[in-house]
Amino acid sequence: MVDALEARPRALLTPLPTPLERAPRLSEALGTEIWLKRDDVGSLGLAGNKVRKLEFALGQARQDGATAVVTIGAAQSNHARATAAACARLGLRCVLVFRGDPPAGAPSGNLLLDRLFGAEVRFACTDDWIEVAGSAHDCGEQLRREGGHPVVLPAGCSSPEGALGFAAAYLELLGQIDEHRVEPSTVVHASTSGGTHAGLLVGRALAGRGPHIRGFDVGRLTEDVDGFVAGLARDTAALIGVEASFEVALDASQLGERYGAFTTAATEAIRLVAETEGVALDPVYSGKGMAGLIADAAQGRYDGPVVFWHTGGGPSLFARGWAEPLVADR
Ligand SMILES: *Cc1c(COP(=O)(O)O)cnc(C)c1O
Repeated sequence: MVDALEARPRALLTPLPTPLERAPRLSEALGTEIWLKRDDVGSLGLAGNKVRKLEFALGQARQDGATAVVTIGAAQSNHARATAAACARLGLRCVLVFRGDPPAGAPSGNLLLDRLFGAEVRFACTDDWIEVAGSAHDCGEQLRREGGHPVVLPAGCSSPEGALGFAAAYLELLGQIDEHRVEPSTVVHASTSGGTHAGLLVGRALAGRGPHIRGFDVGRLTEDVDGFVAGLARDTAALIGVEASFEVALDASQLGERYGAFTTAATEAIRLVAETEGVALDPVYSGKGMAGLIADAAQGRYDGPVVFWHTGGGPSLFARGWAEPLVADR
């Protein structure tokens, strides 16, 4: 089964493994041994967790003869930006369809990077994710009529192919913790579209050992997120010949008012990690994931070291208007 994973088509986009670093000053502050898995570090398009998924999804797309990629996201989507960068590297046309209306003024944060990486940017002018996906589908049809071979990737690249990237990532982490002779009890990460969580679960099933995976849902993209992610994990496992069912129980305590809404706990988590380790988290994903870890540690929930999977997101810190809540009282 590990052979089946290794045999999948893959576009190599970034050097792996990403670093696994002990975080001594953060550990001291929290009274729990913390390690950081640095998927915010990489050579493609300012990195982040989507690069791992794109390696598998675009590997498959290239094998199928794709010439263009269409995908969706919120305007500050890290996935959209990573896709734009990957398409630039692979020589594929990239069309990004965003939720909502175009923001006023010059593009900032990830939107600026999307443009620099040469992506065509469109706004669906609706907040409804189903309509945004419909508009991406229509865009794919249009490219096909023009003679192109588009592939349409779902939000966050959380297709079964994409999630395979995180099955491989879990095996990568096991190699590193063995090397460091550390036995973490838990891996903690932020989750939205579910490919990261599903892939990690499949990796753990493949290995038959390793730390538990605790995901904090910061998106609530559907009514039954747990059911969706369990189905995604099952479909991902099936791609590599593993018949398994998965129990998913994401923790929604860090979501706040909604996806993208700033929370005090995330703001404090971002500051703590920045001041103790010189590492930047973001307010939408990794900051909320770390806020969950901090709350867990305060409740004495972990009986051993913890790996925080830093999924990236730093470029959104430079989105217009996002600095204010982070430094309001500084
Ligand atoms: C997309 C994203 C996540 C969530 O990963 P999913 O696989 O979509 O659940 C977490 N952190 C960052 C920074 C992201 O961009």
